[in-house]
Amino acid sequence: MPSEMYIVIAVISTIVIVGNIINITVFFAHKRYENFVLQNSICLKKIKEINSRYNFYPYKNFDQYYTYDNENFYDNITCKDYLVYQLQFIGKSLSEQIEKIRINKEQYSKYVDEVNSITQLGEFEVSVGKLKLKKLIKKELLLIEKFKFRFPVTQFFLTVTLYCSKIDGQVYKQKSQEFSADDIFAINRKLSNKSGSFYNDREIWDAICLVERGKVSNKMRFSIYQRDGYRCRLCGVSDKFTKLEIDHIVPIAKGGKSTYDNLQTLCHKCNTEKGDSL
Ligand SMILES: [Zn+2]
Repeated sequence: MPSEMYIVIAVISTIVIVGNIINITVFFAHKRYENFVLQNSICLKKIKEINSRYNFYPYKNFDQYYTYDNENFYDNITCKDYLVYQLQFIGKSLSEQIEKIRINKEQYSKYVDEVNSITQLGEFEVSVGKLKLKKLIKKELLLIEKFKFRFPVTQFFLTVTLYCSKIDGQVYKQKSQEFSADDIFAINRKLSNKSGSFYNDREIWDAICLVERGKVSNKMRFSIYQRDGYRCRLCGVSDKFTKLEIDHIVPIAKGGKSTYDNLQTLCHKCNTEKGDSL
């Protein structure tokens, strides 16, 4: 069954980098030391006060996973074409998210500066009494790490990967490209240059048409032939006498989509004569 020979999997994955590395520390020190630091450390009080003045945006996931049963989709389409196409739908919210990440980065750097300017390490509100100062400071350092904000997302990359796999899932070719926030802004700017439902930038429009065309899967192709009785819908010639083709009723170049109701069976002759007309 040719319709199930190949599967193209398109994956958009976003990679985010958080502001700091997660520190996992085992606390061995005596509970008494921990309690004393928690109650009396001037550093920790300052950090809590600084924390209360900062708010970081949480991260929203944009990962996507699509499959297309059409090998041409892989061969004819670049990762960038695919991204351009998908940005029609997620471009706006992705831009907003990138802007929030930029604000996070700015805020986080101010936050780190403020925390780093605290100088009262080892100073406590009450006398340390018989407790050992060195041990208290060690404890205090661990607690400072624990209290600091560590998770704001401050950097962003987006990767588009196209995989070509056999029906059993075995990937036999793949390509991948990474995009920065600036790349995405640049594409979004071009996407916003529109006349009605058409994009004015040639490169953008070509990419969108390519991906739209690639969405005619083998499965669709065969069910359209079947629906139309294996005959040309214009002149009626059957597949016994000529090679049949799939035509977009409203051409892609005129904004037509690769959907069942916009596809029909034509013979090569009728399809050539019709060209890009409606
Ligand atoms: Zn015909």
